[in-house]
Amino acid sequence: MPASMQGENQPAVYRFKFGRFEIANILDSKVIREGLHSSFGSNQPVDAVHELAHANRIETSRFEHPFIPTIVNTGKQLVLFDTGNGALRREHEQRLGRLPDGHLVERLAQAGYKAEDIDLVVITHCHPDHIGGLTDGGRPTFPNARYVFGVAEFDFWRRGESIREARKFNRELFMKICEPLADRSIFIKPGDEVVPGICSVDAAGHSIGMMAFHIESEGKRLLIWADTCIHYVTAVQRPEWHVDVDDDKDKSVATRKRILDMAATDKLFVAGFHMPFPGVGCVERSAEVYRWLPVSYQLNL
Ligand SMILES: [Zn+2]
Repeated sequence: MPASMQGENQPAVYRFKFGRFEIANILDSKVIREGLHSSFGSNQPVDAVHELAHANRIETSRFEHPFIPTIVNTGKQLVLFDTGNGALRREHEQRLGRLPDGHLVERLAQAGYKAEDIDLVVITHCHPDHIGGLTDGGRPTFPNARYVFGVAEFDFWRRGESIREARKFNRELFMKICEPLADRSIFIKPGDEVVPGICSVDAAGHSIGMMAFHIESEGKRLLIWADTCIHYVTAVQRPEWHVDVDDDKDKSVATRKRILDMAATDKLFVAGFHMPFPGVGCVERSAEVYRWLPVSYQLNL
């Protein structure tokens, strides 16, 4: 009897030691999207996008879009960066049909943690796929956590002025999910320390007040760049191409270039929320073109 087909089996947890810290990337979910162009390069001819896809051996139309929160255990505190999609699809299917169900909480167990163990939830920015897992059925998913938001990001969504049409529902979600958490939240600015070894970095553009986070322990350095680049080919190799989900297109381009330069020059490890799982890599620069180098065994030694 021939063996039966077993279907896909892909890992969803990647945990590694980082100095004194332990870091885990957890695949909340992923979705296959159509339209590499004009999700990326809407300010470019379609052929340019297809050419870059061919050169990198990826499909010209469909692309995988994963959602990967990061957990840092500093030895004193357990810090979760972003919460994935949570129950958004179940609760708002009509309006958010493109989002998959979030699996962060059940996969936390595979990483060795419970939702109650999370001390701090840091939100890089308030787009649905980053805040969706904060609550489930109106109740906080992480009952013992305090929250960290960027003050500019939180104020932007709370004020609700000059929000582009495509983000109107995002604003409703923010008011439902994030605003009620204000009294359990800490509000920070770029450059502020979250806990010892974790500092925020200005990454505004994709969202008006987005922040990246610099993690350092015993000389090892990693940048959680959130949605600075949301595709490992198009956004990294062509940072000047517009990305449809960037809220401020020009600022996003400037921020991508600055953060890519920082990651390449300082030889940082990078954790990217939408990079291919496990979402950890480095940025290489050659002939003024950046490339995403997925991590191999560097963090296992
Ligand atoms: Zn995102």
